[in-house]
This record gives sequence, C-alpha cells and structure tokens, in this order.
Amino acid sequence: MKASPAGKGGPGQQPGDIMPVVFIGHGSPMNAIQDNDFTRSLDKLGKTLPKPKVILCVSAHWVSEGTFITGSENPEQIYDFDGFPDQLYKVKYRPKGSVAAAKEVEKLLAGVPAKLSTEWGTDHGTWSILRHMYPKCDIPVIQLSLDVGKPERWHYETAKRLLSLRKQGVLIIGSGNIVHNLSMIDWGQFSEKTPDWALEFDAETKKRLDTGDDEGLIDYAKKDARAAAYAVPTNEHYLPMLYAAALRQKGEKVSYFYEGFQHGSISMRSFVIQ
Ligand code: ZN
Repeated sequence: MKASPAGKGGPGQQPGDIMPVVFIGHGSPMNAIQDNDFTRSLDKLGKTLPKPKVILCVSAHWVSEGTFITGSENPEQIYDFDGFPDQLYKVKYRPKGSVAAAKEVEKLLAGVPAKLSTEWGTDHGTWSILRHMYPKCDIPVIQLSLDVGKPERWHYETAKRLLSLRKQGVLIIGSGNIVHNLSMIDWGQFSEKTPDWALEFDAETKKRLDTGDDEGLIDYAKKDARAAAYAVPTNEHYLPMLYAAALRQKGEKVSYFYEGFQHGSISMRSFVIQ
C-alpha cells in the first residue's frame, strides 16, 4: 500500500503505508526568509505530503568524523553561516527532537556504528526549508551527520539501512544541492548565467535518477570528471541526494517539484520519491 498521493491535504499515516522520501536543494540561507518560486514550492510540498510523525534530516551542514544522530528532546537552533542580514539570525524555528526516534536510528545503524550526540542541534540546512514546509513547527526533528571520511558507496549503503523508518511514519529528507561550488557562484541579481558544467552535471544527475542508475550516482566523479570537479568540489552537499536515492524502492518514481538554479550555479533541483 502506497502513501496517500500528493494533493489530498497531507493526511496522517495508516498502518502499512510507506512515507515518501524527499531531497531538497536548499541553496542560500536567505531562502529561509524569502518568498520566491522555490520557497513557495516548499510551502506546497508541506501541504501535500502525508503528515510525518518525525522528520529525519540528512543535512549537508552537519559533517563529522564518525556518524551521529541528534539525541536531545530540545535541540538548539544553529545559525551556521556568517555575513548575512540580521533578519536571518532572528528567525526562530526550533522544533522538538525525539530521543526515541534517534535511538531507533542508532539501532538501525548499529553496524556503522552511529551514536547519539547532544553537540549538534537543528542547522540551517534543516530549518531554512522546514520553516516553509511546516510553519507550525509541530513535528519532531532529528538529524543524521555525514561522516567526512567515508566514500560515496559507504553513504549509499548506510542510507539503505534506514528503510524501515519509512514504514514508521518518518519522513527522511536529504538537504543539500546537486551542484554546489561556492567559489563559482554569482551573487549578482541580473547577470546570473548558469555555466555549461553546472547544466551538464545537473542534467546528467537527473538522467541517472530517472533511470534508476544508482551506480552512476555513486561513481559520478569517475563518469564525468570535468563537470563533476566543478559541480561537486567537496561532496557534503551532494551526499544528502545519495541518501534519498538509496531509499528508493522498486516501482517508485522520482518527481521533481522544483528545478532551476540560484546565483548562477547552485542547482536547486528538488524531488520526492514515492
Ligand atoms: Zn548549504
């Protein structure tokens, strides 16, 4: 039995339902306070997904040595960016955590291993998008860190261990960007032109998602070396997408609820798997 389809007002889960999986290209922290096509697509998404019991976010902004899960009932909101307008530091979005859900993740990742941590809270990779999706801030949120020392295939296999959470009403969200190179972005408002390598890598990744070419998603660096070197200079924004892709089940489709670029080269491509 599949989760209720989008457009039915986000009903709760029924026994046997499987939650969709989401990947969101979060882009600049400024999206947290902006009203644009991208943030409106998040508003809509929150209204159409089945209402989760808990959200597990794999954010590009929690990179660690080892694997951790936020393990506090009241995690801090983290303003993990510098040089943005004061308004952004005043945004309050502080959902409750869930130690019970964190322990369940710890159990599923026992072979990794993963440990609960109270050193991290809810970072902007998570709150800048959830603020639009769930403005009432009434769903508990936990985060899973990205072990910086592990290869892509390891992350892909780790993600697969989380599959049973989908049947327990947990919405798993990967939050990063398929193309993310801060040294190449264009902050100009009117001169934003997307470079060829960004278009090429984004299109190639879409093709792999559409055809279920998970090997291509894992081995992206070998397959298109030039575009990948520019598009994914470091992989922390790419990996959350791989977590989402790894959780796809046979027969499930990838639907893109937002496509496009911000600041020239940041791919905002975002999708739901269900
Ligand atoms: Zn980011």
